This record gives sequence, C-alpha cells and structure tokens, in this order.
Amino acid sequence: MTDRSLAEFDRLHVWHAFTQMREYEPLLIERGEGAWLVDTDGNRYLDGSSSMWCNVHGHRHPRLDAAVVAQLGKVAHTTNLGLSNPTTVEFARRLVEVAPPGLEKVFFSGDGSSAIEAALKMAFQYWRQADPPRPARTRFVAIGEAYHGDTLGAIGVGGVDRFTELFAPLTFEAIRLPSPGGPCPATGRPAPSLAESLAALEGILAEHEAAIAAVIMEPLVQAAAGIYVHPPGFLRGVADLARRHGVLLILDEVATGFGRTGTLFACEQEQVAPDFLCLAKGLTAGYLPMAATLTTAKVWNAFLGGHADRRTFFHGHTYGGNPLAAAVGLASLDLFRDERVLERLPGKIDRLRAHVERLARLDHVGAVRQCGLVAGLDLVADKQTGKPYPWQEKRGTLACLAARKHGVLLRQLGDVVVLMPPLCITADEIDRLAAAAEAGIREATAG
Ligand code: PMP
Repeated sequence: MTDRSLAEFDRLHVWHAFTQMREYEPLLIERGEGAWLVDTDGNRYLDGSSSMWCNVHGHRHPRLDAAVVAQLGKVAHTTNLGLSNPTTVEFARRLVEVAPPGLEKVFFSGDGSSAIEAALKMAFQYWRQADPPRPARTRFVAIGEAYHGDTLGAIGVGGVDRFTELFAPLTFEAIRLPSPGGPCPATGRPAPSLAESLAALEGILAEHEAAIAAVIMEPLVQAAAGIYVHPPGFLRGVADLARRHGVLLILDEVATGFGRTGTLFACEQEQVAPDFLCLAKGLTAGYLPMAATLTTAKVWNAFLGGHADRRTFFHGHTYGGNPLAAAVGLASLDLFRDERVLERLPGKIDRLRAHVERLARLDHVGAVRQCGLVAGLDLVADKQTGKPYPWQEKRGTLACLAARKHGVLLRQLGDVVVLMPPLCITADEIDRLAAAAEAGIREATAG
C-alpha cells in the first residue's frame, strides 16, 4: 500500500481510541529514535506525551531492543495459567525488590485497566475470605475526577464525567471524595483544602466503614483529570485514615510509576506502602503491553486453600506475564540503575518548571500545575477571572495540533495542554517542547 492509501484506510477503517472519527486526520508514525518519532513523510516530532504517557528511556533504545530480540530467541509467549517462565519470574523478583515494603506478590495482566480490575476484584474477594470474613465490605471510595481506565470496573471508580457518565448504568457506584488537586470543574468552585478533604474522608469512613472494601487513588497527581496535583500530605493522610479504619488502600501508579513524579514510585515521596500497587505503561518502558497488581502476603494468604475451598482468584488474561514484555521490563529496570535515570531527573524537572512558569504568563493560560516531569496548562478565555473557553471550541486540541507544525506531538485533556515527555528527554529538547507548546497555545488562543 502507498502512504496515501494507508492513510485513507486508516481514516475509514481503523477506529481510534478517544477519537471522533469524522474529524480524524491520519498521522502515520513509522519510526522512533530517542525522544523523537518520524512519520511516513520523514517529518520528525518530539514525543511530548511519551506515546500516551508510557515511554521512559526513548524509542529504539539499543538495550531494550536487544532484550526483546534475546527473548525472541527463546520463546515469545507462554501462558502463566498454571505455569511460568524464567524471565517473568526474574522480573517479578526485581519488582518486589524495588516496590514499597510489604508488596511481595505480583499478579500480571495486560494493561492499566486490567491491573485496576484485578485490584478491585481481589479487594472484594479478600473481605469474603478474610479471617473473620467481612462480606458486607463491597464498596470503594474513589477521588473526584479520578481516572483508572475504561473497562467497566475502572469506570465504576472513575470520576471524569465526560468519559464515564454514559456508562454509569453498566457499572457500580463508588463513594466519591472531592479531589483537593484541581479546580473542581463540576462545581466551578476552588478545590477543597487538604484539611477539608481529609475531614471529608474521615466522615465517609466513619459513616460507611462496615461497607467499604478499599480506597483507590492515583498518588500525588491525577493525570487524566487534567494533571491535578494533590497538596503534600494528602496521600499520607488518606493512607493513615484507611489504615485506622481497617480499609484496604489501592494505589494506581499506572501513570505515576517509573520515575514520572521524580521517584521510581510516587508513593515513596510520602512513605506510603499500599495494600495494592497497580502498574502498567512505564512497566515495560512503554515498549509492550503489560501490567502488574502487586499486593501483600496478608491478601495472598486469604486466597489460599484446598481446591474444594473455592478461594482461588478466578481471574486472568491470556498475555499476563508475557515473557517478551517481562524481558523489556527487566532491561528497563537495569537502565534505571545503569543510566542513573532518577538521579538525573531533578535538573530536567527544574528546567520544565522554569518554562511552565514562563508559559503561565501567556494571555490565555490560567492555572498551571506540575509534578515531576508532567505539567498541565489550563487554556482560559479570560485570564483575570479564569473563565473557561466554551468546550465546543476545542482550544486545547487546536493548540496541540498547532504544536505539531513546530515539530512536537502533544495531547490535550480538554482545554488542558499536557507536557509529559519521556524521562530521557534532554535539556535542549525540553526547551524545544516548551517553545512548540507556546507557539501552539498562541496560535490556538489568538482569536
Ligand atoms: N490508570 C491511570 C492513572 C491511567 O492514567 C490510565 C491510562 N491513561 C489507566 C489507569 C488505564 O491504563 P490502560 O490505558 O493501559 O488501560
């Protein structure tokens, strides 16, 4: 097929995620190299959204490529239903080594949503099999504007209305705690303070404790909500309250894991070790689909028994524990160590911050938020009052499309322009990213 006919087939037959296909304009990325992507016409773009928040060390990293090739020389896939392979076991061992204390059991699945589904179902089943059993503990507390994926269970605990509202009849209703991290678009009011949020959670737990299985949250920053950054102490406060009320804590580090917030896992920053840690995206450095739900011996033990006890976790995915994905995940952990990736982040984070502070002065940029190597810039109709643009005008989308002309691929969340480059990005590339974002924002907000 010629590039033209490929693009045409793409437009007419390939149903793209989160995309209005009537408006979709094909862009076919053929190659990658470091923080850069190259389309079929040879145009180069900086990967400003880490290929949907998952690329870590860059594209075509020689050591990651070699790890996949070496594993291909052994076997591409075997099932983990009742058997295993050395690469996957070694990866699980390394994950347990780097994870917060107590998380010593690893359940592999395929993507972020599946890691969440597994945690929700494990938490639910745990209480039926705990000693003593607490079968009434069936509900989940989730944060306002949370995003945990698009499968039905993940939607149940999700709170970004434009993604979840339609499907509400198909799923369950979580008990919702207003997020202290964002501008609270639903009400137009400022977000509650740290103290107000924690007091609200205390109230929820006091009222519903006997019915609650777990609290679920994205630690430090709620990405898909619009890069909502929590006040320091929120994660610690939630974890303490959950513990005090005997409720399990599920942390969704699908977006925050693997260095995004400046530490390998965001929860390290507030010394929190959850009952469940959900990982995906950066787990394989953004190379291959794989997810993991890590949990504790306490949870694992509640599932042990004879066949007739029916305590087994009857849940699994065909490609859970896939050896190719495990091989690249292992190589990625080696790179974190050998290339001192985390040690080199503070300079990059500061450089991004300087740009974000400068961009915050643009006429149509309202609030800006940053956590580690991710930032969100709100586009607003009126800088003084913070009045948003009518959402139908799609200013965020237009800004990101305009940035493409300046050689940078960005992805918006509504009218929030998101900067989320791979951790391997250089200082010069950060400058380039910010310059293109500025040009895109200026263009999209000019009229
Ligand atoms: N949780 C969070 C915090 C996410 O950001 C995402 C995806 N953006 C998911 C879960 C779902 O992951 P996936 O798209 O791999 O199913």
